[in-house]
Amino acid sequence: MGRKPELPGQVEWAWAWQEQAACAAVDTRLFFHPAGERGRTFEEREEAAKRVCAGCPVLAQCREYALRCAEEYGVWGGLTEGERGDVLRRRREAAHAPQPARAA
Ligand code: SF4
Repeated sequence: MGRKPELPGQVEWAWAWQEQAACAAVDTRLFFHPAGERGRTFEEREEAAKRVCAGCPVLAQCREYALRCAEEYGVWGGLTEGERGDVLRRRREAAHAPQPARAA
């Protein structure tokens, strides 16, 4: 008898939160800028997306998902791509910062 193929582990944690997403009823174009969008139009669209996120019951899960997956584009968890880059940079710096000496 042949060996059963390996199945991936349970991955529900990675997406189950999306069922409660406030943006499920919103046009996804609000969260991703079209090519060439700039200036006030760009800023106003991002701010509108962030307002949707602010009232979302799964903001924390969404934000962490986007950070773990290094989502490159769009507003996720109330953070723009640039803001997520800042968070990831701070996390990397904190992980490599020298630890204080422990008292003996
Ligand atoms: S935090 Fe924002 S992007 Fe994430 S699921 Fe909620 S509304 Fe959508």
